[in-house]
Amino acid sequence: MPENDVVPAALSGATVFIKPKRARPFFGRHPWVLDSAILRVDGDPDSGAVVDVVTHDGNFIARGLWNASSRIRVRLYSFMQDQSLDQIFWNARIENAVGLRQQLNLLSKKTGCRLINSEGDNLSGVIVDQYGPYLAVQVTALAMAERLDMICDSLERIVQPKGILLRGAERGLGKLEGLHLPDRLLRGEPPDGPIFVEEHGLHFGVDLTEGQKTGYYLDQRENRQAAALYAGGRRVLDMFCYSGGFGVASAVSGNASSVLSVDSSIKAISLARANAELNNATTMTVEQADAFEKLASLEEENAKFGMVVLDPPKFARSRASASDALRAYHRINRLGVDLLEPGGVLVTCSCSGAITRDDFLMMLSAVAQRSGRTLQLLEYRGAASDHPVNLHCLEGEYLKCVIARVH
Ligand code: SAH
Repeated sequence: MPENDVVPAALSGATVFIKPKRARPFFGRHPWVLDSAILRVDGDPDSGAVVDVVTHDGNFIARGLWNASSRIRVRLYSFMQDQSLDQIFWNARIENAVGLRQQLNLLSKKTGCRLINSEGDNLSGVIVDQYGPYLAVQVTALAMAERLDMICDSLERIVQPKGILLRGAERGLGKLEGLHLPDRLLRGEPPDGPIFVEEHGLHFGVDLTEGQKTGYYLDQRENRQAAALYAGGRRVLDMFCYSGGFGVASAVSGNASSVLSVDSSIKAISLARANAELNNATTMTVEQADAFEKLASLEEENAKFGMVVLDPPKFARSRASASDALRAYHRINRLGVDLLEPGGVLVTCSCSGAITRDDFLMMLSAVAQRSGRTLQLLEYRGAASDHPVNLHCLEGEYLKCVIARVH
C-alpha cells in the first residue's frame, strides 16, 4: 500500500446477521431490531457500540447501536452503508429536528415545544422538550445515554439554552434498557423557580424538576385549544386535569360557564390551581379525587355537563394488556357520556400506544350502543406537529383525541 494512502476508519465494529425472511421490516426502515430477529453476531460489541445489520447472507441493511441488555438489541439510525455514526452525523440529525420546529414557528424562549421526538425525528431513544429558555431531556436508550454529552453540545450550539435538565425515563422504560439515570442538571443553570410557558395566549407554570413526563403535556397543546372552541357557555368537566390545561383553555379561551377540573395527584391539583389563578380563570374549580369514583358520584347526584374531557394516563403498557385497558376506557367513557346533556361534547383521549385508533373508535361505538346515545364524531386528532411520527415506526403514534357530539 502506498505510504500516503489513508486507511478508512472502521464505520462499525461488529456485524449482526438477521434471520432469513426476517429482514423485511428493516429494509422498510423500521428502527428496532429485536433479539428474536437475530441469527448471529460476528464480534463482541459493547453495549452502545456501532454495529452493522446485514441479511443472513451478508448484505448490508443498516447501521445502528447495540444494547445487549435490551429486547431492542439494535436501534437503527442510518440505512446508508457509507454513513458513519459520528458526531457530524448526530449533529445533523439534531439540527434537522430543530429545523422542523423552526419551520413550524415554534421556537421561542416564551413557549414550550418538543424539539426531538425519538423515532419521529430518526433519533430513537431521545426526547428533548423546550420550556422557555430551558431544555428537558429524556433518554430511553442506553446508547443515547452514553452520547448525552455530545447531544448537549449540539443542543447548546443550536438553541443556546440557559440550562439542560435530565429527566428520568418513563417508569419501566429505563429498566428495559438497563438504564439507571437519576434526574440531574446536565448543563448551565437550573431554573430558580417555576418556569412559565405561553400557549395560545394562556400561561402555564411548568414543574421542570418534579412534574410528570418532562413537566408538562406538550402533546395536547393543539387539542386543548380545539376543545376550548366547544366550551362556550357550557359547564365543563375536565377529568385527569394534571396542570389544568384543558380546564384553563375552556374557561378562558372558550368562555365556559364553569369548569370542574379533577386529578388524583396532590401535586397536579396544586399546579392546576396555580395555573387557574395565573390565567384569572375565575369560573374554574379544582378538586382532588379519583376519577372513577368522582364520575360515579357525579352520576349519582344526577349532575349534567355540556362538555366532558377525559385524558387518562396510559392504561395499556403493552398489547397484552390492551383488553383490560379497553375495559377501563369503556368504563370512564360510559360514565362521561352519561353525564353529558343532549348536544353535549365529549373530548376523549388515549395516550396508550398499544391501543390503536380502530380499538379506540370501536370502544366508543360500544359505549354509544350501551348508553343508548348517538355519538357524532366531529374531530379525530393526534399529538401536535412537534411530535412527528415516523411512518416506518407507527408504534410512535400513541395519542388519540376524539371530539364527539353526544345526543
Ligand atoms: N389533561 C392533562 C394531562 C393528563 S395526564 C393536560 O392536558 O396536561 C393524566 C393525569 O391523570 C395525571 O395528572 C394523573 O395524576 C391523573 N390520574 C391518574 N390516575 C388517576 C385517577 N384514578 N383519578 C384521577 N386522576 C388520575
